[in-house]
Amino acid sequence: MVANRDIKPGETILIERPITIHPAAIMASVDHPRGPWGAFEDIYEDGFPVLGETERSVYMDLWNCKPLSGTLGNKICGIARTNGLHTPLGRSKDFSGVYPTISRCNHSCGPNASARFDEETMAMRLFSRRPIAPGEQITTSYVGTANPCAIRQAELKMKYLFNCECNFCKPSKPSRSSRLLRHPYWNAANQLTRQNLDVAAEIYASDYRGSQISLCLSHARDLWAEWLSPSSKQSDGDLLQFHEDALVIIAQEGMELMRISHIAYLAHASAALEDEDGFRRWGNILISLSEWTKGREGIDQKRTWQDWVQDPMASPAWGLRIKAKGNAQNIPRA
Ligand SMILES: [Zn+2]
Repeated sequence: MVANRDIKPGETILIERPITIHPAAIMASVDHPRGPWGAFEDIYEDGFPVLGETERSVYMDLWNCKPLSGTLGNKICGIARTNGLHTPLGRSKDFSGVYPTISRCNHSCGPNASARFDEETMAMRLFSRRPIAPGEQITTSYVGTANPCAIRQAELKMKYLFNCECNFCKPSKPSRSSRLLRHPYWNAANQLTRQNLDVAAEIYASDYRGSQISLCLSHARDLWAEWLSPSSKQSDGDLLQFHEDALVIIAQEGMELMRISHIAYLAHASAALEDEDGFRRWGNILISLSEWTKGREGIDQKRTWQDWVQDPMASPAWGLRIKAKGNAQNIPRA
């Protein structure tokens, strides 16, 4: 699937209902003549005529990566296993759905789009994670993007039988952050200045950055608490720097869904510093990305931030850092 227009981050690209929904995990039958998947394939073959003619043909046109044994049920089942997208339904949430178009998105370990199912509307929404230009291929990730390269590769090989050759698995040039990073947390593997490409070193550095991104939110909680204590050793800018650097690294690794918390911290930190402009700037970005958060929760968050952007002083962190510094000055010196 290829973009035919400019798409902004957070924009809805497509909404569609599934053709079929099946349990994500099944009890494989050990004594079926066609092996463990045989019983499952029979159930699929029996149920298939329930679909309309058009749906059957759209379904059968989807890619199948699994070995074929020749029966119809085997192919139907292979298509379900190749194209199924996580479709959380009911109490168990453990379902997979096959979608006419969204299931056709190719994989990237740093995808520019994500799909999320909304149980209220029974529909899957494909939305952009970063700006997408006309002519650019729209990709989603079939595996966890925070996992190291070797683990992603092994999972893709096992489930979808291909070797991923995306930019994150097979870097073709030395990676560069879009600007110099200043906060010490992000420094270790991020300031590579070598001109020659060393693929193994690039993958190592990319894996390292991925693990830093995954772990940084617990670090962020500690930094926030320290920054707001009267005895804080951080400067006003230290906390902002940590989160601004995080956004650079997240973009570099194509893990844009991790942006939300950092932008929220930047907005709250601006409030704590009584910086109205900064608060509005970050708050408005959060509002534009609010659909990244699931259904009702996203709508409620969007309303809350809209109210706060109207009246920054109503936000819970307003003036907290200023107050903490005032308290620090009042601590009597021995
Ligand atoms: Zn990859």
